[in-house]
Parts: sequence; structure tokens; C-alpha cells
Amino acid sequence: MINRIKGTQDLLDLTLFNFLIESVKKQLALYNFHEIATPIIEPTDLFKRSLGTETDVVNKEMYTVNTGADQELICLRPEATAATMRAFIEAGIQTIPWKVFSWGPMFRHERPQKGRYRQFHQVSLEVIGSDSIYQDIQVITLLERLFCDILKLDEYALHINFLGCAQDRIVFKKLLYDYLTTLTQLCDTCIIRKEKNILRVFDCKVKTCQELYADAPKITQSLCATCLSEWQTIKQSLEHLSVSYSHVPTLVRGLDYYEKTVFEFVGLQLGAQNAFCGGGRYNQLATIVGSKQDYPSVGAALGIDRLVLLLEQKKDGLLIPQKPPLYIIAPFSKEQFDIALLLADELQAQNICVDVLLEGASFKSMLRHANKAGARACLIIGPDEQKAREVTVKNMITGAEEKVSQRDVAIFLKA
Ligand SMILES: [Zn+2]
Ligand SMILES: [Zn+2]
Repeated sequence: MINRIKGTQDLLDLTLFNFLIESVKKQLALYNFHEIATPIIEPTDLFKRSLGTETDVVNKEMYTVNTGADQELICLRPEATAATMRAFIEAGIQTIPWKVFSWGPMFRHERPQKGRYRQFHQVSLEVIGSDSIYQDIQVITLLERLFCDILKLDEYALHINFLGCAQDRIVFKKLLYDYLTTLTQLCDTCIIRKEKNILRVFDCKVKTCQELYADAPKITQSLCATCLSEWQTIKQSLEHLSVSYSHVPTLVRGLDYYEKTVFEFVGLQLGAQNAFCGGGRYNQLATIVGSKQDYPSVGAALGIDRLVLLLEQKKDGLLIPQKPPLYIIAPFSKEQFDIALLLADELQAQNICVDVLLEGASFKSMLRHANKAGARACLIIGPDEQKAREVTVKNMITGAEEKVSQRDVAIFLKA
């Protein structure tokens, strides 16, 4: 017995998964985003440069492959933003802002838990080449409308923070460093982060650390005049649009490339690891991955697996498209298999959903099968029907039977 790899899943019923992807696609099309797809494998360097070498993703969680002869290091993508930016630069896109989205599996070697997998699925959307803070507001708004109005989620919160520009963070990091130096009870991880990637101390899950950071300096108090005005704009504009949010001063997001706006949509039921969507602005990413010029950008990623978990509790209230009615053709024996396939072929050509039972089962067990499959009707072909070029249509709900000429079955079923 060979089992699936730890942290992966076999998706055996994709109803909710597909409903979610389709809903997101529809919503993004409304806002004039278009779909792209980038490779699942990328050069390892792309993520080392973009995410930063002091992040957990690059340090511990990447699936890296040495490709042998040419010694090129490639990896399974741990996220999509850097790859989208690479594609933008590589294609020499001139029309900006470039509003795109993609979706698919991502890979991180994390400790698996409910809703968190080593192969997980994300939708990633980006607005590349705009420094307008109003784009950030629109991205947040379209996500809020999706979660609230279309997916009918409740019990979640929108957390936002503003990380300022590079200059603001230099000032703030100094303030924070001095503050942390006055503390004596930091955990080991925070002591390391303080030296190497100081903003990430706020991601610490240790309770005593969290309590200490409640009184830490806030980055929104170290903003330059431009950033301060943008931060005010975001808050006011979200209020005008009736998007409720909470300002969470310790929200920094794990990755190095974020600046200014950062946000997360957080489920209030999932437990500690509970963000199901996150994003922010990344103005330097283009030059970090090799562009000669800056392309300020904003984007977000939606965690499909976690959203599916949330939707499972809501599925009765969702507008999930109904499957078309199913008809089952039940030939009595091998002598009728040919005519059964021929009939199925004609019906399927007319967009009627048909399954043919070709296992030579008994009549009784074919009816049971049709019942279990939720068929609307069973199309019975025995020797008599074959001779008369007819079909007995048995309505699976009422049990009523009617003989119909084989020529007219499609018309009969559609009526
Ligand atoms: Zn600033
Ligand atoms: Zn800590």
C-alpha cells in the first residue's frame, strides 16, 4: 500500500473547490483582472531574492531540486507574486497597471495541520505598475465583497496595517530595536529576529512576547508626511465604502517585500493559523527580481484550502450551480449494448447527460444503481424494445413507465 505524501490531499469531491475558483474568477473579471498562468517550477534564486533569505519560507520550507547536468537550482513555487513579477518583466509588458490573477498549487514544507498543507492552493491577484494607494483600497474592497456578498462568509475580520516607506522603516526599526533592548524576557526566536529581521518579532506566537509587544512602538507613529496622508486616505476611503476593518499595529506579514499597506482577512473560527487571505503593497519587488526600473504594485493571495473549510459550513446558502439531470440507459443483456451505446451517443450529442450500464447486471440492480446515482429516469432496452425500436422510460421519482420510439427519446426527455 502506497500512501499519499504527508501534507498533501486527494481532492475527491471538487464541488466547493470549483465553486470557489469560479466565484473568484467571476469577481476578478468584474474588476477587469485577466487570468494568467506561470510555471510551477521556478529558479530558486527568484524567491531567495524576493522573499529574503531570513524568512522561514526560504530558510526551511522550500522544495528545491538540483537538476543534475547544468547544476541549476530550481524549486517548487512557494507563492505566486514573485513569479508574476518575473513574468511581467520577462514579457516586457508596457500597458500598466497590469491587472492579473492566477491560481494553482504552491509548496511549502511546513508542519501540516487542519487547513494547512504542504501542497496548498492559492489564487493570487496583482496590480503591477501603479503607486496609487486607491488601488490598494479597491483590492481590499473587491475581496471584502467577494467574501461577504458572494461567498456569504461571516465570523471573519479584516486586519490592516501600514508599514510606511523604506525610510520610515529605518526610523521605526531603530525605535523598535531600542525598545526590545529594554526587555529581558524575549523568547529565543525573537532574540534572533531582533538582530536579523526585526519586524518579524511581531509574528511570534509566544504569549509572553505578544504581551510585551502590545506596548511596543507602532510603525504608524513613525510615518513621513506622504505616508501618513496615504494611511489616512486608506482608512477614510474604506469607511466611505463601508468596509469594516481593524487596525492591527503588529501585522507585518512574513515576507520582506511588503511596504505601506498590508492586510489579512482572518477567520475567527479556524484557530491560531487563521488568515485565509493576505496581501499588501510591494513597490521594490520589480527591481529586486531584476527590473531596471521600479514598478510599484499591490496584490493579494487567497488560501483556497482554508476557504473551502469555511464554505463547508455554509454550503446550503450558496448558489452552487445544479448538475444537469442524469439519465441512465439500462440494456437487458449484451445483445442490447450496441443499441444502448448508439442511443447514448445521440443523446450526448444533444447535450443530455447519460450514463450506460454495461456490466451485464440484473435489471433490479440496474434500477438500484440508477436510484443511487440520482438519475431522473432510466431508459430500459430489452429484447421487446429492441425489436420495436423503442425504449421504456421509467421515471425514477414517480415510477411511471412510458414506451417511446428510439427516434424521439431526445425530444421526449427535453419536454
Ligand atoms: Zn514614508
Ligand atoms: Zn517571541
